[in-house]
Order: sequence, then C-alpha cells, then structure tokens
Amino acid sequence: MAPITQDRPERPPEVGAVFDAVVVGAGFAGMYMLHRLRGLGFSARVYEAGGGVGGTWYWNRYPGARCDVESMQYSFSFSEELDQQWDWSEKYAPQPEILAYANHVADRFDLRRHIRFDTRVTAATFDDTAKSWRIETDRGDHVTAKFCIMAVGCLSAANRPPFRGREEFRGPIYHTGEWPHEGVDFTGLRVGVIGTGSSAIQSIPIIAQQASALTVFQRTATYSVPAWNEKLTPEYRKTIKADYPALRAKARARPTGFYFPFNMKPALEATPTERERQYQEAWERGGLPFLGAYGDLLFEKAANDTIAEFARRKIRELVKDPTTAELLCPDNVFGCKRLCVDTGYFETYNLPHVKLVDVSKTPIERFTAQGIEVDGVEYPLDAIVCATGFAAMTGSYDRMRITGRDGATLAEKWRAGPRAYLGVASTGFPNLFTITGPGSPSVLASMIQAIEQHVDWMVDCMAHMRDTGAATVEPIQHYEDEWVEHVNEVSKVSLRSTCSSWYVGANIPGRPRVFVPYIGGFPVYVQKCNEVMTNGFEGFIVEGADARNEAPRVRLTERWRVPLDIDVISPAAIAARRVPVV
Ligand code: FAD
Ligand code: NAP
Repeated sequence: MAPITQDRPERPPEVGAVFDAVVVGAGFAGMYMLHRLRGLGFSARVYEAGGGVGGTWYWNRYPGARCDVESMQYSFSFSEELDQQWDWSEKYAPQPEILAYANHVADRFDLRRHIRFDTRVTAATFDDTAKSWRIETDRGDHVTAKFCIMAVGCLSAANRPPFRGREEFRGPIYHTGEWPHEGVDFTGLRVGVIGTGSSAIQSIPIIAQQASALTVFQRTATYSVPAWNEKLTPEYRKTIKADYPALRAKARARPTGFYFPFNMKPALEATPTERERQYQEAWERGGLPFLGAYGDLLFEKAANDTIAEFARRKIRELVKDPTTAELLCPDNVFGCKRLCVDTGYFETYNLPHVKLVDVSKTPIERFTAQGIEVDGVEYPLDAIVCATGFAAMTGSYDRMRITGRDGATLAEKWRAGPRAYLGVASTGFPNLFTITGPGSPSVLASMIQAIEQHVDWMVDCMAHMRDTGAATVEPIQHYEDEWVEHVNEVSKVSLRSTCSSWYVGANIPGRPRVFVPYIGGFPVYVQKCNEVMTNGFEGFIVEGADARNEAPRVRLTERWRVPLDIDVISPAAIAARRVPVV
C-alpha cells in the first residue's frame, strides 16, 4: 500500500499526567468536545493518529472528495459568529476547503495546544480503585483521566480486503481513505479502481481525466443522483446568513438533521404520471434530497420499486453502451446502501478508455505483478485504487484494547454486535463516552449535528458529576438491553435493514449482521436523550460522594429542545416510526 508521506515529529512521551478527560480523535467530534471541555474549565488531552485536525477530511484526500450534505448545513452550528464569518465557496465544498475550515476552527478556538498529533491510542483501561482511565499510546504516553471520550469516527478505519497476491503487484496501491498528502498524478497510467461506493463514484470521473486507461471493478452496482454542484453566490450566502439560526433549527427538527424539501405523500397514492413528474423534479434538484420525493420510499417495497426503476432508466439514458448500462443498473432497494451523489459518474463510462469489470459473480481472484486477475483474465494496471470503504461504525474501536470493569474488554462485549445505551455509553465501562456511538443516529443524520448533540449531552453529564462530586456514571444493564432491542426493532420498519450494507456490517467478512445506527430519526432520538437527562440520568448509575440521580443544571443541552417538523412529518408517521431518513 502506498504510504502516506508525513513527518512524525519527535517528542518525549507524556508519562504520569492527569487530566479530567482524554479524548481520542481530533475530527469534528474531538474538536468540539475539546472546545466544550475547555469552556467548562475541564483539563483535557486529545490524541490524534493523524498529523492534523479534521479527521475524515484529513485522511480522505482522493480526487473529487467533497461533502454530500450542503456545506451551509455541513458545518458546526454552535457558534453564530463562526457561521457568519465562514464563507463556503460551493454548494458541496471540496475536501481541501472542509479541511481548511477544520483548521480555522482549531485556530479560532485555540484547540491545538491540547492535542498531541501523530499519536495513536493503543489501550484504555479502567482502574476501578482510582475510578479513572489509564490511557496508553504508540508514542509511549501513559496518562490518566476521569473520563475517556471516544471521538474516533464511524468511517475512520480503512477496509483493505486481503486480496491474494497484493505483495506481488509492482505499482502503487492506494486507499481512498488514506490518500497521500502530496496527491497522485495518474497522467498516462493504466489505473484500476476497486469499488463503486461514494468514494469511488466521486473519484472515478476525475481519475478518468488523467489516466490513459481506467478499469473499474464493480461488485455491487450503486444508485447515484447528480449533485448539480455549483458555486455559491454572495447573495445566496447572505440570504442564509440573514437568519442562519432558523435554518439550523429547521435542520434539527428533521429526521436527517439537515433541511431539504420533503414530500410526505406516499408514492403509491400518486398516479404514474404524477410520480414521473415528481421524480424528474427531484432529480433536477439532485443530491440526497432525491429520497425525499415521497414519504414511503424506504418503507414500502412497491413504492421503492418505482423510484428504483426511474433511477435505472436514468442510467440507461446516460450510458451509451447497453451492456455496460445494464451492469451499472442496481437491482437492490433504492437508498438501502448509502445513496451516492455524483458529478458525471455514469457519463464517465462513455469514454473509450474506461472499462467496467463485473466482479459480482467471479470475485477478484488475485493481484499479479502486472495487474488484477478476474475469472482467468488479467487486466494490466500501473496503479490500483482501493475505494473499498471502511470497517464502519466500530472499526476504530476494534483497533484499540479497551478494558472496563473486571478486565472485560469492549471487543469481547461487542463481539455479537455493539451494545451501548443511547449510543453514548456502555455498561461495564464507567465514564467512557462514545461520540456518535452505535445505537445513535450518527451516519443516518448530518453528522456534525449528531456530533454537537452528543457532545453537549455528554458535557452536561460531566458537569453534573462535577457539581455533585460523583465519581462514575454507567448505564444500567437492562436499560442498555432495552435500547439495543429498540434500535434493532425500529430498523426493521425500514427497507434499509434488508440489504448487505456497511450499516449492518456486511462489508466486512465475519462481522455479525446488526443494524448499528439508530434509524428512528434525529429529533426523536434527541428528545429521548433530553428526557433521560432531565429525569436525572434515567437508566444510568451515578455513583460517589454526593452523587444522586437528580435533574442536572443543564448548560447547553437546552438548545436541542426541538420538536419534530410536523409540517412534513405526520403524527401517524411518527406513531409508526415511519420517519424518513437518508
Ligand atoms: P472522524 O472525522 O473520522 O475523526 C476521527 C479521528 O479519530 C480520525 O482523525 C482518526 O485518525 C482518529 N482516531 C481513530 N482512532 C484513533 C486512535 N486509536 N488514536 C488516535 N486517534 C484515533 N458526513 C456527513 O454528514 N455529510 C457528508 O457530506 C459526509 N461526507 C463524507 C465523505 C467522506 C469521504 C467520508 C469518509 C465520510 C463523510 N461523512 C459525511 C461522514 C464523516 O465521517 C463525518 O461527517 C465527520 O467528519 C465525522 O467526524 P468525527 O470526528 O466523528 O470522525
Ligand atoms: P463503501 O460505500 O463501503 O464502498 C466500498 C466499495 O468497495 C463497494 O462498492 C464495495 O462493494 C467495494 N468492495 C469492498 N470490498 C471489495 C472486494 N473485496 N472486492 C470488490 N469490491 C469490494 O465505501 P466508501 O465509498 O468509501 O463510502 C463509505 C461511506 O463514507 C459512504 O457510504 C458515505 O457515508 C461516506 N462517504 C461520503 C462521501 C460523500 O459523497 N460526501 C464520499 C465518500 C464516502 P459492495 O457494495 O459489494 O460491498
């Protein structure tokens, strides 16, 4: 695998230091957590494996990387000044701009001096006597903290399938999620891309512009909707900024945590002509909101079939060669795997030097010195791009040794599927918080919103413990069990639970099939978190000194008191938990 070239500056290990909190990861989650902790006077150390802040946007530097939630919403909402000062240049900002934003936030809120970069946390162990966590890193750091906060991301552990013969291939092998910082020039090269998920779909059109030949190895065809990305005008930005808080509030009231026009009417109640018009209009608006064309698309297979057929028709129109077009047509549920958003993806297959190889029935056999072999045919290549995704949701947890009470490890506890109460904490692991952890909306919401809500809730909890002198907080087993069961039950109402996606861990061989994120909708979840807190941390044991499960002095969680947007979501839909998600 081509290495990421980055210097790892020397520094002495930090041994024996004591903090109120250690935070693992300096993506948006770790950064906001640090900001809030510092604001409340907690001492904190952040460890980050990368050489800078930004997480996802630090690592994923592949050509074409950009967000697919509109930038004016895919950004922090906690600071009105920040919202007013920062100008996004495009509807969907490119990776360098999002990384620049992360760096701006780090500077503006003076975060860097609390972060140790190029440092991977290898182990975290709870000391039941001291009621604190011992944290170890690959740089020899040994520190302790009352709270250990995992801000390790849901899509941060690259998935590198163990293709046979990998070592034999003579050219470089790249992974989209660990892209070289100096960039890659594919000019004149024969390039192979493995995968057709979001990362592949964004990078393929750009790689095709440089490569002399591009071969895409597709295991599962993917639905993708045009982004219609564009430059943002000063007038547009001004209109949003005139009442940014209103947009943020509307976003929080949506199941997705971001705002877009949504039609709750069921597709099956519309006539074919109405549906065609509606889908065409939604296609012309583009992006993830395409799924908002009707309210029942992710709940009724017959409704889903109508949008799937529309999307397949678009592929057949866009791709000139009928055989390639058919291969590119997915046959699974529309939106079941994460919907992709593209710029010129399908059209790329009309270029004479771009070829699609179906590996659905005959998998990639092996890498050879000269290329990739499938079904006895060798495809000659100079470079390979693995756009093979991530060990999603829990991959970064698996890569650490996390030991709770009585020597139990998190890996053992989560072997049959991750278990956490509200996705924020796990029984047996006191004072360990998991930002956007399993069983929370996380990847099914606009993630920066999900991060802010989790951090605010956790920080309120920590401040409450300081107010009352409490030593530990830990979920009660049966509350956790009930929540895990609820997350599982709710997932069954959605067609999303039916396909082999990374939401259910199906992209990693051997993982248990469990629908990991909470699909009940962001505001429904937020309301539950608020109730738990104001009921005195119902479902948690708060122990030590003067500790008691009493209603806390709420510091910031109040801003999350938002109703569901019932203009577009009917009470019946809520009752049936048929809340649309993307
Ligand atoms: P991350 O950004 O993943 O940061 C986690 C950090 O933890 C990483 O920097 C990692 O190095 C560090 N870390 C992990 N383990 C350790 C360890 N043991 N020791 C030290 N450090 C460690 N979401 C959206 O809502 N909208 C989008 O448009 C969108 N686009 C995306 C595009 C791409 C290419 C990808 C991969 C994801 C996208 N996402 C999007 C999801 C994205 O991950 C989140 O929006 C968000 O950036 C997550 O922030 P985070 O801080 O939780 O995690
Ligand atoms: P992904 O969606 O998991 O896609 C990985 C691709 O690699 C899939 O096509 C998969 O095929 C294929 N693959 C994996 N192992 C393979 C093997 N052994 N042989 C052949 N093919 C193999 O990963 P991703 O594209 O990196 O995206 C992950 C998530 O990150 C997205 O869903 C999204 O949430 C986020 N993201 C967002 C954007 C954005 O637009 N803002 C961009 C990139 C990523 P199968 O489908 O058959 O498993």
